[in-house]
Amino acid sequence: MLNNTQIRECLDKIADMFPDAHCELNHSNPFELVIAVSLSAQCTDALVNKVTAQLFKKYKTPEDYLQVSLEELQNDIRSIGLYRNKAKNIQKLCTMLLEQYDGKLPMDRDELTKLPGVGRKTANVVVSVAFNIPAIAVDTHVERVSKRLGICRWKDSVLEVEKTLMRKIPQSEWSVSHHRLIFFGRYHCKAQNPQCPSCPLLEYCREGKKRMKGKAGINEQ
Ligand code: SF4
Repeated sequence: MLNNTQIRECLDKIADMFPDAHCELNHSNPFELVIAVSLSAQCTDALVNKVTAQLFKKYKTPEDYLQVSLEELQNDIRSIGLYRNKAKNIQKLCTMLLEQYDGKLPMDRDELTKLPGVGRKTANVVVSVAFNIPAIAVDTHVERVSKRLGICRWKDSVLEVEKTLMRKIPQSEWSVSHHRLIFFGRYHCKAQNPQCPSCPLLEYCREGKKRMKGKAGINEQ
């Protein structure tokens, strides 16, 4: 496992690689962001952006999503995986926002997770990106990179990964580190083909060293 100094050095190197890491889901307000993040489960940000480019022209408020039938909304997002359930959750979310939150998105993570289709990861993204409240959302990239490097244990749950990262990273860097870890996992330390030979973190990385010796991913089973 990496010590605190090594983690600091890894984060600095990742920051050098991706200084402009940011949320890649297009949105212009917190409500649009929660819709976009909800749509992004098991789907690429690029596809979500393609769909929301049209969706956000048609639907601007919670009321708008409730003025159409479920079938119409499903049709508007049908190129996205799990679109039937996602459309149902969006309409339930809009109903709850209007009935319990005066039509506005709550700024509190625990309140956000009460909304249909909004889990802890989505809530962390929303508070961090839309409300500038420090948070670390652990998605598949953040989890994979943290475990490969040895910041977290292979057996850690997503919640344990989040808590470890919150302990190891200064609070002022939670949000930006979250984006940088996502970029690092999405574009460099990819699930199937990590770029170990050219990786500036190889000297720290237990998984990279194994892969370079030809024992690829033995701990990832
Ligand atoms: S050495 Fe390989 S596995 Fe380790 S962080 Fe770099 S790309 Fe990922």
